[in-house]
Formats: sequence, structure tokens, C-alpha cells
Amino acid sequence: DPRLQGISDAIRVVPHFPKPGIMFNDITALLLRPGVFKDAVDLFVERYRGMGIAAVAGIEARGFIFGPAIALAIGAKFIPLRKPGKLPGAVISENYTLEYGTDCLEMHVGAVEPGDRVVVVDDLVATGGTLSAAIKLLERAAADVVECACLIGLPKFKVPHIRISKKTCI
Ligand code: 5GP
Repeated sequence: DPRLQGISDAIRVVPHFPKPGIMFNDITALLLRPGVFKDAVDLFVERYRGMGIAAVAGIEARGFIFGPAIALAIGAKFIPLRKPGKLPGAVISENYTLEYGTDCLEMHVGAVEPGDRVVVVDDLVATGGTLSAAIKLLERAAADVVECACLIGLPKFKVPHIRISKKTCI
């Protein structure tokens, strides 16, 4: 697809951010180019439209940039999966392990109905730990997680512990 190169070119790689040795993929540069931002959203919309998707679940924070645009375009609800302590209602939580330490995602009880077909959206998959936690959280609420959609898949990670069939990266 000719749009892919433009999307790839619009992602800025910032060395040594947020700490020495990390090559940070900065998607804010892409957001400054409305045509490219639209291409990125459109590619996902084209994939998920007509698939009976009831909900798009976005992972805080950058999944909140792409997720709602995709949800609106395919006529699905948007569910924020948030860091601990941000959601005001009753939540279910899923802890997960990071390279250094642990983190947690939370979702409002009742956000998904049992059997809802859900797509999980984030900007980037590295180890897949974050997406795996999101899948577990949604499946505990009896959702049917159809796929995870990310703009960037870091090639050095093979993502062995999430089901590859559920991963799509532009
Ligand atoms: P994983 O859990 O797959 O190891 O890491 C993915 C999570 O880390 C995503 O939520 C993603 O937003 C964040 N992340 C890690 N590295 C980068 C990066 O280089 N750029 C961006 N934009 N996000 C990153």
C-alpha cells in the first residue's frame, strides 16, 4: 500500500529518550501531518469496518489518539484502558511486568458486554506485555478480542507470548 511509506517516514526516531540507549519512536510528528494521520486511521478503518466490531479499546496514552478516530469511523464504542487510579467507577485491573518493574491497566466494569467483538489499539508493540495485559483484561470481562492494532511493531521483538493472529502492525 503506497500509504505505508509516508506513515513510516512521518514517525520520528529520537535517540536516548526517555533515557540513554532507548530509541524512541515519536508519533507526534505524524500527528502534525493531517493527511498522513488520516492515512494511518484509514488503514485500520478499512481493515475493521464490516467485521461486527462492537468496541475499540485504546491503551493509555497513545492508544487514545488513534482509537477514538477508528471507533467513530466503524461505528463502535470506545473503551479507555487506563493506568491505575484514573477511572472513577468500579474497575477490573490487570498487572503486568515491564523490563524494569510492573505496571497495571484498568477498565470500567460494564464497559464491555459479554461476547462483544473488540479491537485493542496502541501506537507501538515492543515485547507485547502491554497488549497481553489488555487482552487478559478484556477476556476476563468475557469480550471476544478479535485483534490488536498498532502503528509500529519493533522488529527486534518477535512478540512470542501474544497470539500473532491478534497482532496487526502498519
Ligand atoms: P511493550 O509492552 O510491547 O513492551 O511496550 C509497548 C508500550 O510501550 C506501548 O504502550 C507503547 O506506547 C510504549 N512504548 C515503548 N517504546 C516506545 C517508543 O519507542 N515509542 C512509543 N511511542 N511508545 C513506546
